[in-house]
Amino acid sequence: MAEILVLVDHTEGVVRKPTLELLTLARRLGEPSAVFLGHDADSATEALGRYGAHKVYVVDAPEVDELLVTPAVDALTQIAGSTGPAAILLPSNPDGKETAARVALRLESGLITDAVDITAGEDGPVTEQSAFAATYQVTAHVTRGIPVITVKPNAAAPEPAPVTPEVEKWDVTFGPASAAAKVLSHSPRERGDRPELTEADIVVSGGRGVNGAENFAVIERVADTLGAAVGASRAAVDAGWYPHSHQVGQTGTQVSPQLYLAAGISGAIQHRAGMQTSKTIVAVNKDQDAPIFELADYGVVGDLFQVLPQLVEEIERRRS
Ligand SMILES: Cc1cc2nc3c(=O)[nH]c(=O)nc-3n(C[C@H](O)[C@H](O)[C@H](O)COP(=O)(O)OP(=O)(O)OC[C@H]3O[C@@H](n4cnc5c(N)ncnc54)[C@H](O)[C@@H]3O)c2cc1C
Repeated sequence: MAEILVLVDHTEGVVRKPTLELLTLARRLGEPSAVFLGHDADSATEALGRYGAHKVYVVDAPEVDELLVTPAVDALTQIAGSTGPAAILLPSNPDGKETAARVALRLESGLITDAVDITAGEDGPVTEQSAFAATYQVTAHVTRGIPVITVKPNAAAPEPAPVTPEVEKWDVTFGPASAAAKVLSHSPRERGDRPELTEADIVVSGGRGVNGAENFAVIERVADTLGAAVGASRAAVDAGWYPHSHQVGQTGTQVSPQLYLAAGISGAIQHRAGMQTSKTIVAVNKDQDAPIFELADYGVVGDLFQVLPQLVEEIERRRS
């Protein structure tokens, strides 16, 4: 069966959910092989095998910590050059997209970024992309070389398919160009217990209607009840009510969760660009003519300060 390389996104050996999604999608195309860069392969191998990685290529070298994306570029290029996979899948995050572009260039292959779905076609993988603020659905396939594809988080639900992976250590040669930029130090970003915005199954976002930084506690309360990430409109982050890293939209983060709850957000085109591909959209807005209701699956016309506490109360009542 054709080999599909999947670049593993992990934090100290803990495999992140988008990688499990990639492994699930890779199984539609062939037999997934994971490419793991780092020192904690043992803990990752079990998770990778659980989601169908028949092979785990391990690249454990000091350069992995010292350099930016180039170790992954060198590793993928050299492994792909040797094994000739049918496709290479990477997560659609900034590092993944930069790595993918460089790998495609070196392999003289076609590149597709931000796929939201992949299926097996007669001439290789066929991708779906959501373009122009999700107003167009684009179907595409690579016509040259080994298809290099980045896939957005939440494109597929991770489905286990346990196997015991064969682990193969790879000695990657890092060329002088790879060390053109070096990492001086890194420290973990402060983050709470909530899931990452891009990876969360549920996102609860607040906008100008939240009317103040202190009122975001109402949004956080709903998010914590649902185990969700917190998002915000640009109006809310520009007002200083919530950190910019939580902005959803064209110039913020693009999310595609199972459930997106927008409270006090009008639904401007630039906000929609970041959330329109969410599977189910719920809007709470006191203006019944707010554009957000045009794309919402469920809408509540009402004051978010009355609606959201009732929502929390009802969820808790049903759980108890
Ligand atoms: C180049 C460019 C890029 C941009 N990028 C982004 C982006 O990435 N993300 C983004 O979000 N925006 C972006 N914007 C801004 C965008 O155009 C809108 O201005 C912004 O999304 C509006 O945010 P909002 O919906 O929170 O505020 P508003 O449009 O002011 O809407 C507030 C809503 O809250 C409702 N409301 C008020 N009080 C309550 C209440 N108590 N209960 C319930 N509802 C209430 C109102 O009825 C209203 O619909 C961008 C703009 C430009 C020009």
